[in-house]
Amino acid sequence: MTMATMPTQRPGAGPAATMRAAVFHGPSDIRVEEVPRPTPGPGEAVIRVTLTTICGTDVHILKGEYPVKPGLIVGHEPVGVIDQLGPGVVGYEIGDRVLVGAITPCGQCHACLGGKLSQCGHGTGYEAIGGWRFGNTIDGAQAEYLLVPSAQANLAKIPESLTDEQVVLLADIASTGFAGAESGKVRIGDTVVVFAQGPIGLCATAGAKLMGAAQVIGVDGDPTRAAMSLRMGADIVLDPAKVDVVEEVKRITGGIGADVAIEALGLQVTFESALRCVRPGGTVSSLGVYSGKLQMPYDAFAAGLGDHTIITTLCPGGKERMGRLLRMVESGRFDPTPLITHSFALSDIGEAYRIFSNRLDGVLKVAIRP
Ligand SMILES: [Zn+2]
Ligand SMILES: [Zn+2]
Repeated sequence: MTMATMPTQRPGAGPAATMRAAVFHGPSDIRVEEVPRPTPGPGEAVIRVTLTTICGTDVHILKGEYPVKPGLIVGHEPVGVIDQLGPGVVGYEIGDRVLVGAITPCGQCHACLGGKLSQCGHGTGYEAIGGWRFGNTIDGAQAEYLLVPSAQANLAKIPESLTDEQVVLLADIASTGFAGAESGKVRIGDTVVVFAQGPIGLCATAGAKLMGAAQVIGVDGDPTRAAMSLRMGADIVLDPAKVDVVEEVKRITGGIGADVAIEALGLQVTFESALRCVRPGGTVSSLGVYSGKLQMPYDAFAAGLGDHTIITTLCPGGKERMGRLLRMVESGRFDPTPLITHSFALSDIGEAYRIFSNRLDGVLKVAIRP
C-alpha cells in the first residue's frame, strides 16, 4: 500500500484487530462474537459505534422472514465517532461525531441523481431497495465498528448540543415516519389517519403534525402505544378492537373521509382500512413492508376512478436528509427520546431482541451500547 492510498488510521489499529458484533447465523440465531474489524477503502469510512438500536426489520431477519446471508452483522441505525477515513473522503476528521442513515445512497448513480436515493444502483442504474445496505447486503451497525460506504454522501456531523440518544432514531424510524407524511403531501388543515403506532407510526404521527395537519388520528389497540401517540401529536387514538375505524373516521370528518391515511404496519387489513378511510381524491401513504399479495377492493377506490394517490416510501437516507432531521431535534421541534424505553449493552443484545420482538415490558425502542 502506498502512502497515497493509505487510510487515515487511529494509532494501534492493525489488520489483525477484531471487534464484537451481533452476527446472523440463521433463523432464531443471532450471536455476539469476535469478528475482524473493518478497514476503509477509497471513499469509505469506519466509525466506532457509540449507540445503535434494533428495528422491526431486524426481527424479521432474526425470525428468518427476511432473508440475509449467514455471517452478516445485523443492524442499520448507527451513531458513532469517525475512527478511520479512506482515501478521497474530505471535510471530516478522526473523532468527528456522526449519524449515518439506515439507507446509504452512493450519490452518483442514476437513481441517486434522479432523486430516488433509496433505490440506489451503486454507481450504475436503479436497484429496488438498493439504498438499504447495512445489515442487509453489507455488515451492519450492531457492532463496535462499522464500515460506511460512500462516506462522503452519508456521514452527517452531529451538533455538539445533541446527545447520541437524541439522534439515534433519526437514522431510520424518524426518517421513515416523517417520510410517510411528506410522501402523503400532508397540507395545512388536513385530517390524517395513521395506522399502527409502533415506532415508525408514532414518528408518522409526529410528522403529520409537523406538516400542518389540523387533526391527527392514531390507530392502535395497545394502551402504551396509544398514550405515546397522544404525546407525539395525535388528537385522538382509535382502538380497532373497540370501534370500526373506517366508520369513526368518516364520522369525525363529517362523512367526508381523511385527506391522507398513512399505513405503518404492512398488512392487508390496515392497507385496506387506510384506503377506505380516505376521501375521494385522498392519499394512502404506505410505509409498511408487505408479504404475499395485496388486494385492492374495487369499491374502496371507486373502481379506479376515485383520483386516489397510493404512494410507497422506503426510508430516505444520506447526509442531507440526516442534516434536516438533526435540525428538527436541535430546534426543539421534535424530540424522539421518549421512544427509547430500554437500554442494553451489546453483549446483552440477545435479551434486547427477546424483549423487543415480543413487545414485552411496554418496549418501543431499545438503546444498544457497544
Ligand atoms: Zn429499520
Ligand atoms: Zn446511488
